[in-house]
Amino acid sequence: LQSKLPDVGVSIFTQMTLLAQETGAINLAQGFPDYDPPQELLEALVRHARTPGHHQYAPMPGLPQLRETIAAQVGRRHPEAPAPDPATEVTITAGATEALYAVLAAVVRPGDEVLVFEPAYDLYGPAIRLQGGVPRYVRLPSPHFRPDWDAVRRAVSPRTRLVLVNTPHNPSGAVFTADDWQALALVLAGTNALVLSDEVYEHLVFDGAPRMSARQHPELRARSFVLSSFGKSYHATGWKVGYCIAPPALTAEVRRVHQFLTFAVSTPTQYALAEVLAADATDAHARGLAEFYQQKRDAFRSLLAGTGWDLLPVPGGYFQLARYGAFSAAGDRSFAEQLAREKGVAVVPISAFYHDGFDEGLIRFCFAKEATTLETAAAKLR
Ligand code: PMP
Ligand code: GLN
Repeated sequence: LQSKLPDVGVSIFTQMTLLAQETGAINLAQGFPDYDPPQELLEALVRHARTPGHHQYAPMPGLPQLRETIAAQVGRRHPEAPAPDPATEVTITAGATEALYAVLAAVVRPGDEVLVFEPAYDLYGPAIRLQGGVPRYVRLPSPHFRPDWDAVRRAVSPRTRLVLVNTPHNPSGAVFTADDWQALALVLAGTNALVLSDEVYEHLVFDGAPRMSARQHPELRARSFVLSSFGKSYHATGWKVGYCIAPPALTAEVRRVHQFLTFAVSTPTQYALAEVLAADATDAHARGLAEFYQQKRDAFRSLLAGTGWDLLPVPGGYFQLARYGAFSAAGDRSFAEQLAREKGVAVVPISAFYHDGFDEGLIRFCFAKEATTLETAAAKLR
């Protein structure tokens, strides 16, 4: 069989997790918490797992009560926009991963261009190419990784079908400001291009900055698929439950694909999430996430302060980027391998987020970890 993705190997997250297992290194590489979801969510899951009749196919677009609680929560979070209609604008997917794939499969035709900011989450490029699409990469400059909107304007062409944005951004933590959203709206005015807004880290915005979404901007909302994930917002990456919000005509196209991709998402997890979300009418859990992760960010940064690690700013998300130039002139992949083998800490080399392997000597730490894990890792890193 001739591979459709001959240049793609095992993902960098899997590679580094395997390396951590092989070497016994602390895994600050793959992005997942080393703590469990809130107790009330676990109890709800057990209760629903024991409830007769909660084990067959959920409705294709998702359990109605889960879509309703999501729509209500999103409505409260962005009161300047109408809440999404759970019947026609919210679709539950098997993580944001399935939503990304379903949107790309629904929208991208052979030869269509998709604008992607780099560094980019690893699945974007390959998933676009599997649809016959052509990724057009626009580089985000370090250390702030904010878009250069003139460069974006130059990259947009009549073939641009979709612009893929990710805010807060993996791996850098950069967060779109109101000016960025406005610039995106201006760049796309008069085009037919759609927007895929990957907002899986939407609650993880630090230092009092507002949580912003493509949904807040009327012109963007009309052309956007907005994705989020309970993996991030409930410390449950293994549950693989996420969702896509989009206007009815766009949602209809996503559902055409979703019904043949997974058809529906696991039923008891949807019941459990619906119950816990509905019980939290003030969104205390979601609103608490920024402080929860900001504390981890600050603790990790102070543990490494005054060492040779050059820590980049982290306005959002749960990753810390660092320059290691004070220790080594090696490429980032060999540095990451050496760090795991010799110092016992696994990280992700940032060149893995570039289609051309661009390497400026940066690695990524995940700080979604217990305080003791961060302390042990920092002692090794110091
Ligand atoms: N997008 C980004 C930017 C991510 O970091 C991740 C997961 N780490 C995903 C999408 C996938 O989300 P999920 O695990 O819900 O499929
Ligand atoms: N999104 C996670 C990260 O950036 C990894 C998810 C995965 O392993 N596919 O580390």
